[in-house]
Amino acid sequence: MIVLGLGGMGSAALYHLAKRGARICGVERLGVAHDRGSSHGSLRMIRKAYFEHPDYIPLVERAYELWRALEVESGKSLLTECGLLLSGRPDFTLIRGLEECYGQHDLPHERLTAGEAMRRYPQFRLPEDHAAFWDPVGGYLRVEECVATHLALAQLHGADVLAHEDVLSWSSADDLVTVTTDQRTLQAKCLVLTAGAWMGAVFAELRAPFRVLRKVQLWYDSPNRARYEAGAFPGFYVDTDYGGFYGFPAVDETGMKIAEHTGGEEVSNPDELDRGLHSQDEAKILKFLGETFLGMQPRRTKFSACMYSMSADGNFIVDRHARFANVVLAGGFSGHGFKFASVIGEILTDLALEGRTRHPVEFLGLSRFANHAAR
Ligand SMILES: Cc1cc2nc3c(=O)[nH]c(=O)nc-3n(C[C@H](O)[C@H](O)[C@H](O)COP(=O)(O)OP(=O)(O)OC[C@H]3O[C@@H](n4cnc5c(N)ncnc54)[C@H](O)[C@@H]3O)c2cc1C
Repeated sequence: MIVLGLGGMGSAALYHLAKRGARICGVERLGVAHDRGSSHGSLRMIRKAYFEHPDYIPLVERAYELWRALEVESGKSLLTECGLLLSGRPDFTLIRGLEECYGQHDLPHERLTAGEAMRRYPQFRLPEDHAAFWDPVGGYLRVEECVATHLALAQLHGADVLAHEDVLSWSSADDLVTVTTDQRTLQAKCLVLTAGAWMGAVFAELRAPFRVLRKVQLWYDSPNRARYEAGAFPGFYVDTDYGGFYGFPAVDETGMKIAEHTGGEEVSNPDELDRGLHSQDEAKILKFLGETFLGMQPRRTKFSACMYSMSADGNFIVDRHARFANVVLAGGFSGHGFKFASVIGEILTDLALEGRTRHPVEFLGLSRFANHAAR
């Protein structure tokens, strides 16, 4: 078996395949847990408050279990449940989606008014007409540690990692895949495609329902850092009239990490991503910080550009290749996929080894784009 791309999803697939005894090698054009794709920037949000689609809940429940199991096996701390405050106007997708999610699934949560939320966390100033939800099990994953841990344990279970090796092409014939890299030709019974923002390059059929967006992550320290530190301050997602913003408690001297989930310019070539910081990258973030955290006096300490791989409907793409049954793929994670990497690794392993999975992933299948591809 071969895994193409060892970022968030590929590292998890490599780990699960190796752990189930498959002879497996992973090929990655860059290094381990690098900062050129979509799985970097120290923290990623994990939450059961799933406003995007209630069908993600069984998957995220299993993802939590698998992250905890990975912590036990590795002895590393990867997931912190610091709690999350989610707030927006009652007619916004965020609040309507959360009502639907909590209506369909029995999950720990509290519904709060804006006033109640601000009494609990006086750091926030929220508009009076906002509703809020508290997700007590929401929190963050240490993203680079997760990728590195999956890869290290995959190797302990017998996987080979071919880093700094670029896959140039692949083909499938007679139940055998052939993968050509810039250094060798590999053959295997099955290929797993997890190329992130490069999925369109390694899987032409995906070009139609797929686009890549540039996103900038920013960190701000404050003279009042203690007010924003873990323990005193939660993770958050706030929907405003000018965008959706999320952030995390300060976990070190770089301060609070914050980013805009909405917006982002289209990237035509992921190899040429603009990695600089421009005033327009920061303008809305500074407006949001100024309005929401009075007295914070934010001082930027760090920034990092990253890419969202957007599917046409914002839901992931996890499936077998329509023509080649021995090729499975996962992409289009649309800016909310990392928390699922652990369970996506398990699902890709099921699909690669058994051709099917017990996990409910029909809603993530490629066939939903049939009309899109035809256009
Ligand atoms: C700024 C930002 C914030 C985010 N926040 C969250 C969040 O809070 N919570 C959440 O759940 N999700 C979040 N996400 C989304 C999540 O991080 C991504 O969905 C996830 O990391 C994607 O993983 P991936 O494996 O698909 O891509 P990647 O991790 O980029 O991996 C793809 C890999 O394939 C390799 N590759 C590509 N082509 C080739 C080739 N030809 N040969 C060899 N190797 C190749 C690349 O080098 C890369 O390492 C965020 C994303 C961004 C950008």
